[in-house]
Amino acid sequence: MPYRAPEADILFAMRHATGLARAMADGGFAELADGTLEAVITEAGRFATERVAPLLRVGDTAHTPRVDGRVVMPPGWTELYRDWAAAGWNALSGPAEQGGQELPTLLSIATLEMWNSGSMAFAIGPTLTIGAVEAISRHGSEELKGVYLPKLVSGEWMGTMNLTEPQAGSDLAALEARAEPAGDGSFRIFGQKIFITYGDHEMTDNIVHLVLARLPDAPAGTRGISLFLVPKFLVAADGSLGARNDVVCTGIEAKLGIHGSPTCTMVYGEAGGAVGFLIGEANKGLACMFTMMNNARLAVGIQGVAIAEAAMQHAHAYALERRQGRAPGATGKAMSPIVAHPDVRRMLVTGKALTAAARAICYACAFAIDMSRRTEGEAAVAWANRASLITPLAKAFSTDVGIDVANLGIQVFGGMGFIEQSGAPQFLRDARIAAIYEGTNGIQAIDLVTRKLPLAGGGAIAELVADWRGAVAATAGRPEFGETSERLARAIDDLEATVAWFAAPDRDPGEALAGATPFLRLASLVAGTAWLAAGTVEALADGEVDAPGRIALVRFLAENLIGEVAVLKDRVVVGAASLAAAAAVLDA
Ligand SMILES: Cc1cc2nc3c(=O)[nH]c(=O)nc-3n(C[C@H](O)[C@H](O)[C@H](O)COP(=O)(O)OP(=O)(O)OC[C@H]3O[C@@H](n4cnc5c(N)ncnc54)[C@H](O)[C@@H]3O)c2cc1C
Repeated sequence: MPYRAPEADILFAMRHATGLARAMADGGFAELADGTLEAVITEAGRFATERVAPLLRVGDTAHTPRVDGRVVMPPGWTELYRDWAAAGWNALSGPAEQGGQELPTLLSIATLEMWNSGSMAFAIGPTLTIGAVEAISRHGSEELKGVYLPKLVSGEWMGTMNLTEPQAGSDLAALEARAEPAGDGSFRIFGQKIFITYGDHEMTDNIVHLVLARLPDAPAGTRGISLFLVPKFLVAADGSLGARNDVVCTGIEAKLGIHGSPTCTMVYGEAGGAVGFLIGEANKGLACMFTMMNNARLAVGIQGVAIAEAAMQHAHAYALERRQGRAPGATGKAMSPIVAHPDVRRMLVTGKALTAAARAICYACAFAIDMSRRTEGEAAVAWANRASLITPLAKAFSTDVGIDVANLGIQVFGGMGFIEQSGAPQFLRDARIAAIYEGTNGIQAIDLVTRKLPLAGGGAIAELVADWRGAVAATAGRPEFGETSERLARAIDDLEATVAWFAAPDRDPGEALAGATPFLRLASLVAGTAWLAAGTVEALADGEVDAPGRIALVRFLAENLIGEVAVLKDRVVVGAASLAAAAAVLDA
């Protein structure tokens, strides 16, 4: 069954799992008032459903071969991209002074979910352009902004992100690409970058590469990395395109999924040096790139939500049609649709509940980013800390959910799930990369426990815990939520005990790092359940009907899924010692 944008679920999560409804009631986010929010989501939903999703299989089967040195995009891809950009979707969050609509990050993330559900291989391209716009807007000179931003904001040109080198993946300190001053204010870039998404193609007539490289005499490690803008075609001051720059794509990776996205090896400076321009200060490139990477992490998190949503819609539709055996209580002689079997129901409801929880986390993160930009002083710092803390949950939990739910989708299909023609395997193949790129999920978990838990002296996590306890109170004494309140309270107690374990002054760093991944899942299960529970209560209080079964989904999360929190706590608190002991098998 083809994807249909779940507009009602998206609007519910935007309004109620984040705080947007309250903020709008107080007069905030005025640009979304008077039906604009609903109109944008409906239009994006239509485009994703009618234009993007039909090309999902095309991208998967056509791949992006390199023929005579040119990258060939899948049939229909270029037209799709150009129509998408012409409709203004690329400019949604771009700066107004460069032609953007400067709409909230929350809206941008919600539309990104739909583009990714339609086709993740398509959506990852524009995602990188949006990141490039942010990095140039924040750190670029006025001249660079004037020349490059209008075309990147409109989508006439696309952007890329060039960090990875063969010896420098998670550890960018090992980066070797070089930049030499040319004497006229520009630089010449030399080196090889690998795995560069949308590194080359002809969908747009120019591509703007953001490249990390080292200046001569730069300090070793991450303090000696600078960020450069390197266009595929040089650009004159009047914006017209000039000569081809000295950067070429020398190969396309054959990979597990997202086949419609060209993953390129890029070589800079084989013919004298690629012309590049410094963005921000020398040796501060990593900080500038982080502008791009933080948003990219949330944007990758939403890919997990998007794939999970699409995989569940697909599996649910199949389960309504496929008939096998007889479900409990079936009447007559006919075989039952497999959706009637309790085990299949368990898989589908689990998938839908995890998708909703991950969506709530990603949207809460986007809302916190928006609030940090709309407030000042201490409030702005608190919102920024909140966004920082939620970002690793959004990235890692949601992309794990994407994989787990796509995997459940295959199981629902049975044997057909193993057959490519059914479409089920593609979701799993596409989802797999999201847990790896933009900082592997293991690196996200380490970031959470080493940098994010200590934010504001532990105040940032304490604020979130207080927020989640609000959901305990909101669902207390409401029989329709079953044991949600009690079970959520117990899970939050476990979370607090685990946070205290990490914060112990004598905590061995090795033990803390060993517990990082289970803790990230623990915190995410609590966060997703709490935000959905509180949001559902708020929506009901606002007079919204309980469609489609949101209370039941919250109850299922609380009574079926967050019991895992107690196990995860154990894995953190007592797991490290046995891991250290068992690791002997690795070193033997
Ligand atoms: C399809 C695809 C598209 C990509 N697109 C881009 C792009 O557009 N631009 C770009 O610059 N890069 C891109 N990448 C690269 C991607 O970001 C890296 O692959 C990723 O950051 C991991 O680096 P690595 O592959 O070198 O793995 P490694 O760093 O070698 O990691 C291997 C394993 O070791 C673990 N590990 C590493 N260091 C630590 C540590 N300190 N503590 C604990 N565990 C650790 C990792 O979690 C992982 O499990 C892309 C990759 C792919 C496959």
